[in-house]
Amino acid sequence: MRYSLHKQAQASLNSGINLRAVVQLPEGEELNDWIAVHVVDFFNRINLIYGTVSEYCTDETCPTMSGGSRFEYLWADGAKYKKPTQLPAPQYVALLIDWIETQINDETLFPISTEVPFPKTFVPLCRKILTRLFRVFVHVYIHHFDRIVYIGAEPHVNTCYKHFYYFVKEFDLVSSKELEPLKEMTARICPDASPVPVRKL
Ligand SMILES: [Zn+2]
Repeated sequence: MRYSLHKQAQASLNSGINLRAVVQLPEGEELNDWIAVHVVDFFNRINLIYGTVSEYCTDETCPTMSGGSRFEYLWADGAKYKKPTQLPAPQYVALLIDWIETQINDETLFPISTEVPFPKTFVPLCRKILTRLFRVFVHVYIHHFDRIVYIGAEPHVNTCYKHFYYFVKEFDLVSSKELEPLKEMTARICPDASPVPVRKL
């Protein structure tokens, strides 16, 4: 049992090459469908990852939504928060999750039926969703990684991150400027971030 779990973890840790390839749009697939599926999947997975540290992410430990001392995110949603507002991380993440949930549950934005077309704003909206989701990775990696390591979830989180990173890079969905806070870590865990490497058999 343990052995097979370990093997599984190792496999996912070493799956960078596959992850780089699996994000590519399969032949015959619609790009919007492909993006929609991934946005929903990443939302669910990142939500779960944050759930594993949320007990340790409080107004006291994290009075701002930061990524170290150099990066801080302000919340604005055009509704309750019209101006970018400094919020404690747990509040920021809760608003972010609610906001994304509202978007992906709106069938005019994320149509369920193939008869309903995607809105013209679909890709820009997904860019915004993924950019905001990335901030959760930033906060978790920089402020709560000890907890992730403690519960043994590091390979899982790294795999999710790699998958996310390769996906947003493949379709240019998160700007380099936004990816900056985790640049060094990305170079470490996604060493094959540039061209698609030749698969060794
Ligand atoms: Zn926190």
